[in-house]
Amino acid sequence: MSDGHGEPNQHRKESVAAANIPSDSPVTDPGQVRGGNTEPAAGKFDGPRGKSGALKKSARYRSRSLSASSADSYSSTSYTGSSSEEDEGVQPHEKSIAAGQPNPPYCVRNVEQHAFGRREIEIAEQEMPGIMALRARAKEDKPLKDAKIVGCTHINAQTAVLIETLAALGATVRWAACNIYSTQNEVAAALAHAGFAIFAWRGESEEAFWWCIDQCCSPAAGWQPNMILDDGGDATHLMLKKHAAAFKHIKGIVEESVTGVHRLYQLSKAGKLCVPAMNVNDSVTKTKFDNLYSCRESIIDALKRSTDLMFGGKQSVVCGYGEVGKGCCQALKALGCVVYVTEIDPICALQAAMDGFRVVKLNEVIRQVDIVITATGNKGVVTREHMERMKNGCVVCNMGHSNTEVDVHALRTPDLLWERVRSQVDHIIWPNGKRIVLLAEGRLANLCCSSLPSFVVSVTAATQALALIELYNAPQHRYKVRNIHSHRYSQYIFSVSVTAATQALALIELYNAPQHRYKADVYLLPKKMDEYVASLHLPTFDAHLTELTDEQAKYLGLNKVGPFKPNYYRY
Ligand code: NAD
Repeated sequence: MSDGHGEPNQHRKESVAAANIPSDSPVTDPGQVRGGNTEPAAGKFDGPRGKSGALKKSARYRSRSLSASSADSYSSTSYTGSSSEEDEGVQPHEKSIAAGQPNPPYCVRNVEQHAFGRREIEIAEQEMPGIMALRARAKEDKPLKDAKIVGCTHINAQTAVLIETLAALGATVRWAACNIYSTQNEVAAALAHAGFAIFAWRGESEEAFWWCIDQCCSPAAGWQPNMILDDGGDATHLMLKKHAAAFKHIKGIVEESVTGVHRLYQLSKAGKLCVPAMNVNDSVTKTKFDNLYSCRESIIDALKRSTDLMFGGKQSVVCGYGEVGKGCCQALKALGCVVYVTEIDPICALQAAMDGFRVVKLNEVIRQVDIVITATGNKGVVTREHMERMKNGCVVCNMGHSNTEVDVHALRTPDLLWERVRSQVDHIIWPNGKRIVLLAEGRLANLCCSSLPSFVVSVTAATQALALIELYNAPQHRYKVRNIHSHRYSQYIFSVSVTAATQALALIELYNAPQHRYKADVYLLPKKMDEYVASLHLPTFDAHLTELTDEQAKYLGLNKVGPFKPNYYRY
């Protein structure tokens, strides 16, 4: 697939079968969602005591039932120190099923909390001028009349404003959470109380996660959706895999996350994407505001709320200097942190160096840092080996969509003790007493441990609503079956040296290209050469580039030596 510059998007290099799509969220077979086995699978670690019972259970170190799956559902009775409701044992959907109601009108933790949730929504409305203006302007026209939208996003006060806007514009929605920990229960209650089909609660089990999404996608629930608004691709994945016939009625998909867009490109490449999909993530209004500015604020909020950390003078490392990483670095630097950056892409690495950050390999600083933040969208970035070498008290958190960036699974071994000290905060304790502080079990720290700035979500929500309106109302052939993204491409020229190197490479490329590679037209230098130019300048800053492992390259669908970004990426 072309991105408009004649070069295939590298994020789409590998065709991966839908079943193998990388996922933050639990990707068990969605076909098993009902009556799925909730027993821990054979071989899975069942708590710090383990099967050997080698470690004595004490009041301080409580065992917990841990699943090795990415959903990491746990038996809450084994946790200490949290008063939050996700620690309640019974999953709400179990009550519905037990009551002989397999398709309830909604399923939330406690609908009685609706008044509190409504106040949260009203507060969010005040800080969401864009989406409120869209609601006011378009509610007479009803541009989403008869649209039936499956939503699968984080469910918080800001999403509620989006949901109520979509309804005001004529749509019917059914909504599930894209993350098992990010739902604001009282907001879900307010939406359910207002008559919306909401299926979400904080602390969903893996089985419940898929059950909730299935309630939104399944024709068994008595409706036929025609649009999907997804964050991470799970609703799309489940519909395609489990409700293929119903999927044929989908008019369009709006996808919000980097990870979900990556999945769409993989589907498209594999020839399995049979509807147009709008890549909202790469709209400037999404990427710059949600990924950059929002994370710049919410990373600090998440760390403060969960750890009461003082930032001044602390040493931190941020893995990935993309949009999210840039935001995190800016915020940490502003509060007096010493900030290191790891990168695989020479262009982003050079940007980090130019912004005043030391570019290092994680191994070089892992012993000395106080805070480790991942923001790569990749897997296995922080490994058990890294965590072995961290110092006592090191805080580890992830800001990327996937819970695979920090290898949390590798921490579930009998020699390590897990102590829940607060909701979403675990101490992982080594036999010698060393402990690291893990936030949200490696899931999106800002969404699990804090709330997002409403203003930023207003920008994103307005973009999503407009994308839905555009896809829903577009004349039949405006969008072909492919992913749609912006074609704007901007180059950053850092210095005369960089410019000169770029010019030289352009000359070399044009001079040596096979006869028919370039027609009489204007071209951009291939991305790989841009990256090469950047890499030539890294030694000046003693910047050390991280190399992708084979597994990571496969996961991202990249060639290990680049190009590392699609042409439309804006740095
Ligand atoms: P991006 O592509 O702009 O940046 C990711 C960077 O990580 C890239 O520059 C890439 O070269 C680098 N990288 C990849 N593998 C690496 C590795 N092994 N070591 C070091 N660097 C590596 O993406 P983004 O917009 O910054 O988003 C990053 C992740 O954050 C995605 O998963 C996205 O879905 C998620 N996200 C989270 C939030 C939030 O609120 N927490 C908001 C938006 C996006």
